[in-house]
Amino acid sequence: MPGVYIKTYGCQMNERDSEAVAAQLVAKGYTLAPSEHAADVILLNTCSVRDNAEQTALNKMKNLVGTAKKKRPDQILGFLGCMAQSRGQELIDRLPDVDLIIGTQKFHHTAAYLDEILSGRREKIVDTAEEPGSEGTIREHLLNGSAKSKSVTAFVSIMQGCNQYCTFCIVPYTRGEERSRSIEDIVTECRQLASQGVKEITLLGQIVTSYGRRHSPDFEVDGRVRHSVRAGVGEQTSGAHGVTRPTPKSPFVQLLEAVHEIEGLERIRFTSPHPKGYGDDLIEAYARLPKLCESAHIPVQSGSDRVLKLMHRGYTRARFTGIIEKLRRAQPRMGIYTDLIVGFPGETEADFAETLSLCREVEFDNAYIFKYSPRKDTPAATMPGQIPQPVREERNARLLDLFNEIADRKYRRSVGERVQILVEGPSKKNPARMTGRTRCNKIVLFDGSERHRGQLLDVKITRTGSFTLYGDPAIENL
Ligand code: SF4
Repeated sequence: MPGVYIKTYGCQMNERDSEAVAAQLVAKGYTLAPSEHAADVILLNTCSVRDNAEQTALNKMKNLVGTAKKKRPDQILGFLGCMAQSRGQELIDRLPDVDLIIGTQKFHHTAAYLDEILSGRREKIVDTAEEPGSEGTIREHLLNGSAKSKSVTAFVSIMQGCNQYCTFCIVPYTRGEERSRSIEDIVTECRQLASQGVKEITLLGQIVTSYGRRHSPDFEVDGRVRHSVRAGVGEQTSGAHGVTRPTPKSPFVQLLEAVHEIEGLERIRFTSPHPKGYGDDLIEAYARLPKLCESAHIPVQSGSDRVLKLMHRGYTRARFTGIIEKLRRAQPRMGIYTDLIVGFPGETEADFAETLSLCREVEFDNAYIFKYSPRKDTPAATMPGQIPQPVREERNARLLDLFNEIADRKYRRSVGERVQILVEGPSKKNPARMTGRTRCNKIVLFDGSERHRGQLLDVKITRTGSFTLYGDPAIENL
C-alpha cells in the first residue's frame, strides 16, 4: 500500500487532527512513511493563525513541487487543515501540481479521497464544505506501536470551532461555529485510551470552557443543565430562602467529572480555555477532582483593558487577576501559563506597560508570546494604528526578557522540592535521560530508563535549566 507522510504546522489541535488522519489511513492499509523522500503521498496539515505559518507551508509545498514531484510525477501532494479551509481552490490555482485540498471538517475523508486519486477515478479533489457531525470524527489514535514505547499521554478532541470572534483571530472562520461531542462519546474514547495504558488525557478544543453550550440538545445556552447526562450531575443545593435549585455546573465541568471517574486514568488537563469560562464551578473543580492537574493555560492576550476591549476578549484585567487569585486559593501550587499578543493595532507604550505589569503581578510560569500578525478578513487587520514591525519586535524582546527573569526566579524556587511526575519516555534532546511532567506542567529530566515509562514517580528537584527542571528519583521509587 502507498506510504503517506504528514507534516504538521501549528497548534496541538492540528497535531491531534494529523494523528487521527494517520490512524484512519493505517486502518485502511496505508503505511506511514518515515520521511517525505520515502512517501508516495505527502500531506501538509496547515495553520492560518499567523501569516508566517501560512508562508512556511506554502514555501514547503513549492519546494516539494520543484523537487520531489519532478523526480516522481506520480507522487500525490495535498494541503489539509486551516489554510486549506480558508484558501481552498486558490491553492491549486497557485500550485497546479497539488492534487488534494481537505478542509477542517473533512479530515475523515482523507483515505477515501486518496483512494479515488490513486486509482485514477478523480484527478484533483477540493473539499472545504461544512459537514454536520464532523466534530465527532477526530477519534482514532496512534499510540506509537509496540507495548514498550507506547504513549502514556493522549489528546482527546472534545469540540470544534469558536463563537468568540476575537478581532485578531481567524479561527472562527477556519474552524467554524462551536460544535461539541457528547459526554458519552468522549468518555468512551477516554476509557478506551485508559484501557490501552494511557495515564494522562488532555481535553482539546479551540475554546473548551464553552464546551456543550451550543448546538447540543443536552444543555441550555447559559450552561445550566437541561438534562442530567449521568447520575450525580446537577445535584440539588439549598439556595437563598431555603429553595432548592440545581447546581449551575457548566457542561464542561460535567465533562471533567465524567472523565474523572474513568478507572486507570491518573491525570486530566485541558486546553485552550477562555477566561470567561472560569466560573466558580470550574475553580472549585480544581480543589475537588484530584485527577485534574493543578495547571491552567489561560490566554490573557494583553494587560490593558483598552486593548482587551479592542480585541473583543470579553473580560477586564481585574476579572482576569480575580480568576488567578481564586485559582491559587483553590490550589496554591497551581502552574499558570498564558498567551500574549504584542503590537496589537492601537497598542500604545502605556498599554504595553500594562501588559508588563500584569506579567509581574501574576508571575506566570510561562507564556506563548506572539507578535501581532494581521489576518485577512479579521476586523483587527483594518483597524487604525497598525504597529510597525520594529516596534512589535522590540516589545516582543522586552516581554521575553521579563519572562526569562520571572522563570529564572520561579524555577530556582523549585530546587529541593519533591514533586510527582508522570514519566513520558526518553528525552528527545538526550535519549539517555527520561522526561516527565509535574502536575503543574513543568518538564523534569532525570537519569532513568524505559522501566520508568508510565510511572507516577516522586522526584527531588536538584537543579534548573531554561524552563526545565532536573531531578533525582526519590529513593523509595527505585
Ligand atoms: S477565543 Fe480563541 S479561538 Fe476563539 S476567536 Fe478568540 S482567540 Fe480565536
